[in-house]
Amino acid sequence: MSKIKVKSRAAGYIFAGAVLLLSLVMLRVLVRAPCADDARRAFIDAHSHLHGRLPAGKADYDGAVETALKRMDELGISKAIVMPPPMPENFPRHYEYEDFLPALKKHAGRFAFLGGGGSLNVMIQQAVALGKTPDRLRKKFEERAGKIAAGGAAGFGELTAEHLSMAPRHPYESAPPDHPLFLLLADIAAERGLAIDLHMEALVKDAPVPARYKNRTNPESLRGNISALERLLAHNRKARIVWAHAGWDNTGDRTVELCRELLGRNPNLYMSVKIEEISLPQTSPLSGGRLWPQWLELLKAFPDRFVLGTDQFYASPRLSFMWPGRGKEVRSLLDQLPADLAQKIAVDNVFHIYPLAQKKL
Ligand SMILES: [Zn+2]
Repeated sequence: MSKIKVKSRAAGYIFAGAVLLLSLVMLRVLVRAPCADDARRAFIDAHSHLHGRLPAGKADYDGAVETALKRMDELGISKAIVMPPPMPENFPRHYEYEDFLPALKKHAGRFAFLGGGGSLNVMIQQAVALGKTPDRLRKKFEERAGKIAAGGAAGFGELTAEHLSMAPRHPYESAPPDHPLFLLLADIAAERGLAIDLHMEALVKDAPVPARYKNRTNPESLRGNISALERLLAHNRKARIVWAHAGWDNTGDRTVELCRELLGRNPNLYMSVKIEEISLPQTSPLSGGRLWPQWLELLKAFPDRFVLGTDQFYASPRLSFMWPGRGKEVRSLLDQLPADLAQKIAVDNVFHIYPLAQKKL
């Protein structure tokens, strides 16, 4: 064999090798082995808010929705259920779902909504202040709930039975969870196939307000509310009640044991998980970033009853509003669950609880 032939054969091998290598690279680009981000399980955020009220009566919900979409993409949130927070009477930055609905409709596949935080909750607070529920208020409440249902809401929220004030201009609100208007709403929700999102600090019995929440807005002592919550749940078993913010406990009473007992006794009780550093560490699902075994056991015992709810407030970029970047912690919890349980909590349960398929924006 001549030297030239050997050289050209070697060049041929090198060329073939290069082609093979290039093909493999191309194939890898085409099928793209999943990197950590691609493999991440998407989830539905079942509890979030839009902050679009600007000074002087103006609003920028389009901007708030843009903020939401950016953050949702970062966290792997495929869809968010947004809702007005539970507002008291004469709340200065008052709003309802009608205010943000036009902005949501521009990204219909990414959002669903609940209504009533800016209207039904206000009426409940009015009735509590009055110490009675006049017929006219009851009728107005019923009509408003019907309007929210007809307007495409997946449920009623955010309503509150015990809401601590944690900052200036953050209201204290309280109402017995078995208040006649809550019972009425349970009947309306059951009839319409809608869910109720309820914010309620847990109090197994009357107790002084936690020391760190002693301020001018909160009362000195808080009323026990767990028995009344169970009366609401028993009032209409067809009403699905989502007790918001499991894992975010500020009284010390919302323990894994209490959640287990209540879920065991009440088949229409659901919970959305929220995790944030400011709540009490002893009842949080995560400790040092790791999922507590007791919490994992609870989620496994009731795999169909939990969803994730970041409680993020997505603000318009025109507001100087800074909110802690909630969501990373529930993402971390989700990533530590076994695959079948993660799928239920991330997506499937949300579809079972809220009529999302029927409520296209
Ligand atoms: Zn809340």
